[in-house]
Amino acid sequence: MRIPLRLMIDLARYMSRRKRAGEKYFPIVLMLEPLHACNLACVGCGRIVEYKDTIRDQMPLEEALGAADEADAPIVSICGGEPLMYKHIVPLTKTLIERKRHVQICTNALLLERFVKQVEPNTYLSFNIHIDGMKATHDRVVDRQGVFDTCVRMITLLKEKGYRVQTNTTVFRETTAEELEELIKMLTGLRVDGMLLTPGYHYQVLTNDIYLKKDEMPFKFMRVKQLAADHKIINTPIYLQYLAGERDLLCSPWTTVTRNPQGWKGPCYLITNGHYKTFKEMHAATDWEFYRTKQDIRCRDCKLHSGFEGTVALDFGKNLKDTWQMVRHYMS
Ligand code: SF4
Repeated sequence: MRIPLRLMIDLARYMSRRKRAGEKYFPIVLMLEPLHACNLACVGCGRIVEYKDTIRDQMPLEEALGAADEADAPIVSICGGEPLMYKHIVPLTKTLIERKRHVQICTNALLLERFVKQVEPNTYLSFNIHIDGMKATHDRVVDRQGVFDTCVRMITLLKEKGYRVQTNTTVFRETTAEELEELIKMLTGLRVDGMLLTPGYHYQVLTNDIYLKKDEMPFKFMRVKQLAADHKIINTPIYLQYLAGERDLLCSPWTTVTRNPQGWKGPCYLITNGHYKTFKEMHAATDWEFYRTKQDIRCRDCKLHSGFEGTVALDFGKNLKDTWQMVRHYMS
């Protein structure tokens, strides 16, 4: 199984409850960014540039927990910045787990050893380790030698201790299909529970040209799609077909909402029109149909999972062939 049974059940119940209530625009994942500070300065990171003036801000614990209540999403992805630098990361994680939220900690792995001494493995907890390629590529992307080796060491440690471990890989222009295959096989050897691979997004605030253009994606993701048959790739098959250029998808940015120290970020995880004080204000200020149909110029080269996997989840059950592909993929 590629995702935990408990998560599948909770997601199915949650979505059916919201749909039965007649709701169309509800969140599935809360991206909780309690800080933007990081102990690395990755070349593809838009956050440390966009929030450079407020990089020292940290969200009070009550505010972070309140954000999870406000969104009421079953999955809380704690990211940033580097979330393990957040001063309340241990009580935040433990409280969210107690409240039966599926917590994913998105980390560069540098501070993991200290954290796992304080938080036990749990069905509701998983780690999402950032790893963008094999050693030379990853250390170049994060701009520090030795980080790849730390990731490998920490994945091994987490698996030994019984935690669920996923990886998150951004595919850049320079990443070849061969390197992706090598990485996927290496992570399989490390017994990771799931691998997510997505094309990088060209944040407006960045000036480098390392991101895949739309026409460069199909070849690389065709290979990922083939490898998904035998490796624990957790992108949905429908999203992989989209990345491989075999079908089109609309975006569902409301399924992944973002809260950071400045407020609720809208309209989506990637692009910013403003920060709003409450979740309701962010919803009221956003024309979801405009972004669903990718009319904004900033959507032009975007195929990020945060918008499109939500569409796949919402459409689950509508098409028999797609539904069968999804069931087969996740049960394997
Ligand atoms: S297409 Fe991308 S940039 Fe546009 S709304 Fe969706 S996730 Fe955001």
